[in-house]
Amino acid sequence: MSELIDGKKVSEDTREEIAKGVEELKSSSGITPGLAAVLVGDDPASEIYVRNKRKACEKVGIYSEEHKLPAETTEEELLALVNKLNNDDKIHGILVQLPLPDHINETNILRNVTPLKDVDGFHPENVGRLVEGNPRFISCTPYGIIKMLDYYNIEIKGAEAVVVGRSNIVGKPVGMLLLHRHATVTTCHSRTKDLGEVTRRADILVAAIGRANFITADMVKDGAVVIDVGINRNEEGKLTGDVDFANLSDKVSYITPVPGGVGPMTITMLLWNTLESAKLSAGK
Ligand code: NDP
Repeated sequence: MSELIDGKKVSEDTREEIAKGVEELKSSSGITPGLAAVLVGDDPASEIYVRNKRKACEKVGIYSEEHKLPAETTEEELLALVNKLNNDDKIHGILVQLPLPDHINETNILRNVTPLKDVDGFHPENVGRLVEGNPRFISCTPYGIIKMLDYYNIEIKGAEAVVVGRSNIVGKPVGMLLLHRHATVTTCHSRTKDLGEVTRRADILVAAIGRANFITADMVKDGAVVIDVGINRNEEGKLTGDVDFANLSDKVSYITPVPGGVGPMTITMLLWNTLESAKLSAGK
């Protein structure tokens, strides 16, 4: 029988810890952590994310502001806003909601967010620090995954870890974090020759692919720990992960559900990083 990794529970406990940290910082230095979210265009999914982030900030005592810009905003206008936020003392974290419209160079925008407020951990300086093993801000989804493994006392050291997916926001950083925690890490992608042969070796399997039910029971070793990052809609429009949860949950030791697994941790770690950033600015 497997145990469900309850991302909501881990998230609630972590947010309590964050709320305490926010209170402590306010009383010791008079600083309220602040997060600015920048949204360009009117992508409904992005609007929901940003709204959820605002509510989450309110609950833990973090100041938040939203900057909604029209889809025809130019790159120069967006850069001007980013620069303003870089220099705004109320703001400790800047989040530029992706995707940006096609006429804006995403990489250029993300590089212009000061690394000291890059709470998404996307700036090359923060990516470099992560690789070096001296992280400042760790990108939120991978960080949340490690938090969940730790919460359930799942041993990472010495484990055979397989990550399917090599994106900059999930696959690569989660592989790096697992490596720093002394797992033996293999990263797979669309050109991996015999995927099942590799995934079956995993003690810890992280699926970050973006394809509903892609990881099937025959690809997973008995007793493995399975972390499902995927967010997909199946044919009935139901939210579903990258893992065939129904056929797998009996053979693994731990598994994250979708929804209610990795998802809630992503916003939580954004709050965490914003608090850390405010502490850094206070010299703590
Ligand atoms: P990307 O599309 O950037 O990356 C997907 C990765 O999957 C790529 O590396 C790709 O390989 C690999 N892949 C695709 N097809 C195959 C295949 N047939 N076999 C092996 N590997 C394959 O996605 P993201 O990393 O941004 O996101 C992954 C999933 O996680 C999505 O469903 C996304 O919605 C979800 N997500 C969830 C978050 C959360 O908070 N829960 C946060 C971020 C993402 P290649 O590089 O060769 O193309």
